[in-house]
Amino acid sequence: MRRTVSIFGSTGSIGCNTVDLLLRQGGAAVYDVKVVTGARNIKSLAEQAVLLKADVAVTADATQLFALKEALEGTGITATAGADALRDAATIKVDWAMSAIVGSAGLAPTLEMAKQAGILALANKESLVCAGELVKATCAESGCILVPVDSEHCAIFQALAGGKHADISRIILTASGGPFRDWTLDEMADVTLSQAIAHPNWDMGQRISIDSATMFNKALEVIEAHQLFNVSAEQIEVVVHPQSIVHSMIEYKDHSVIAQLAAPDMRGAIGFALNWPERPPLPVEQLNFGAIAQLNFATPDENRFPALRLARRVLEIGGLAGAVFNAAKESALDRFISGDIGFLDMARLVETVLESLHVEASQSSSLEGLETVMAIDEKARTKGKNWMPA
Ligand code: NDP
Repeated sequence: MRRTVSIFGSTGSIGCNTVDLLLRQGGAAVYDVKVVTGARNIKSLAEQAVLLKADVAVTADATQLFALKEALEGTGITATAGADALRDAATIKVDWAMSAIVGSAGLAPTLEMAKQAGILALANKESLVCAGELVKATCAESGCILVPVDSEHCAIFQALAGGKHADISRIILTASGGPFRDWTLDEMADVTLSQAIAHPNWDMGQRISIDSATMFNKALEVIEAHQLFNVSAEQIEVVVHPQSIVHSMIEYKDHSVIAQLAAPDMRGAIGFALNWPERPPLPVEQLNFGAIAQLNFATPDENRFPALRLARRVLEIGGLAGAVFNAAKESALDRFISGDIGFLDMARLVETVLESLHVEASQSSSLEGLETVMAIDEKARTKGKNWMPA
């Protein structure tokens, strides 16, 4: 029997790599694809739906419904649009679901997938940052197995096979340091959009590339690791590793460290999640250690990259601080992309919004439900939009 799958955010960087792997592993002959989703990239969404013989294609952008229907005419594939359609599509039962929408827009569909999927491959880290307790409780209730796709967390998931959770001493998340790893604060003040999206090692979507440049991506990953692996802030360390070969490590109580290494290619982590617990060949380059020659590590500079300090503050506040942090960060990112604020202003905006809502955030929990999470998300976003640089 064919394995049933859905891909949410299929037109994005993670989504396209997922489609590529599904096609390489037999496509529609092996996988019964129920749902593919995108937002503005209708041509690519329709092409994917046809290639994979999907049942339903959903665009999150309601204004694109006509274009999607036109592109799928005569194929028998159902076209739907809008946030409710996206959520409805996530209720369709599947063996394996990929959550790869960018931002907190991915939370509602992720929660629906967590209610019904056999395995939830989670790339949308924002779901765990904003509502980790709720996502985990939903999976626990349904029996859905969460397999992380973020390369660092996928590495930790794999390194956990080498020991017991109770014996973890530290989780060491590696960070490339992004394109401005060695830049001074003065140089970083004038960073342009095109400089910020040019990641030295990874080929990713625009938003996560900028988050890597500010290290907000690593900050989200610290919170994600706390949620996924039930470890305290003190047990999570970030180390700069410019080669992006060591994807992360676990140090056990005996101070033995288990690391996962691979070429920086997201098809490694996506393929791992797709095939888990099997490990068939993947189109990921073999490591040539002689050619790599060196693996370097350094302590990150939190003065130049304050996002890391803010992640610890989020864990200290607890409650819905992650949702506030993420929404403020998304709002800062929108304003940087539109040219409204500078590169270094992003962290200033996030810190101001986080501190202004910290009491309210500490008094709530994502277990109160999606509406509570989205309400504080909206408040933080509004504050982020109105923030003025000094
Ligand atoms: P992209 O920006 O490349 O793709 C995002 C996807 O979400 C696209 O399918 C896009 O549609 C869709 N989308 C955009 N806005 C909305 C919305 N409001 N509602 C519903 N769908 C929407 O992102 P990435 O693939 O880079 O990242 C996806 C997730 O995976 C993020 O959470 C990211 O942090 C995480 N991740 C990504 C990695 C990477 O290498 N890219 C690595 C590790 C984690 P369209 O393109 O049609 O507009």
